[in-house]
Amino acid sequence: MRGAVLYGPRDVRIDERPDPTIIEPTDAVIRLSATCVCGSDLWPYRGLNAASDPAPMGHEYCGIVEEVGRGVTSIKRGQFVIGSFAASDNTCPHCLAGYQTSCAHREWVVGAQAPFLRVPMADGTLVATQELPSPHQVPSFLAVSDVLGTGWFAADAANVKPGATVVVVGDGAVGLLGVLSAKQMGAERIIAMSRHHARQTLAREFGATDIVSERGDEGVARVKELTKGVGADSVLECVGTQESMAQAIHATRPGGSISYVGVPHGVELAGAELFYTHVHLHGGPAPVRRYLPELIQLVQNGTINPGKVFDLELPLEQVAEGYRAMDERRAIKTLLRP
Ligand SMILES: [Zn+2]
Repeated sequence: MRGAVLYGPRDVRIDERPDPTIIEPTDAVIRLSATCVCGSDLWPYRGLNAASDPAPMGHEYCGIVEEVGRGVTSIKRGQFVIGSFAASDNTCPHCLAGYQTSCAHREWVVGAQAPFLRVPMADGTLVATQELPSPHQVPSFLAVSDVLGTGWFAADAANVKPGATVVVVGDGAVGLLGVLSAKQMGAERIIAMSRHHARQTLAREFGATDIVSERGDEGVARVKELTKGVGADSVLECVGTQESMAQAIHATRPGGSISYVGVPHGVELAGAELFYTHVHLHGGPAPVRRYLPELIQLVQNGTINPGKVFDLELPLEQVAEGYRAMDERRAIKTLLRP
């Protein structure tokens, strides 16, 4: 098959790769209905993670089960399934506690920017829809696989409650879906920090009540102004830089909660400063698997339409342009059709 491979900084290509097969009896092989480029794919694309050998790319997926191993019991051939970027058994103590991304048998899923994908621990990792989706639902189910699941975790981990005042730092796909998630959880006021017009518009569509385009201390001052000097109850940090983390901590009220779901790059926290801010911090790679059944249901019944974050759709063969458009912030998120 032909799939996306990263060869070095800003060099992603479609290349010949081996067809995935069942290796362990608990595996499934799925035929992807759609896949996409993640904000986190841009870190290695920009050369910010140590580049080593050519790396198959992609970890967001949904599609039809082609084949299952003899140890798979609940997932069946022909089902439409969605999984997370972390394969998990869904039975170990960490999974049972809702932290499937810390599963004792976790395997990171790679190589999903391709027509076919091997998924380990299929019974634990995958969730099937009740019926096959209509074509217009596919982008929303694909969003559930990572960006919505991560945005939902961001809102949940920041303890968003009905009536809450929420700040979302970061206007990438995860931040925008963090806005949608906070809205679903009943937030009354949602302040989106963004200085990009198209993203501000989508943030408002997803439920943002205010937009703050300033950054850093100025952004924090603006949030304080909007909250009568108090700060937000819940802050979703969806970037992963020192500046965004500082912005999140300073925009939170004493006793408030901050979630952080962007992979930190160069973030250092000062103990004494944290001590005196009285905030809760809860983050990490989102345990998307925990939320799959609920989010699939919300898409299935049309309550939410997270697929709107895909503002560029390309054939998989044009993956290089898909990365470029996101890198240059011409696209929020690229959907790829295998
Ligand atoms: Zn587990």
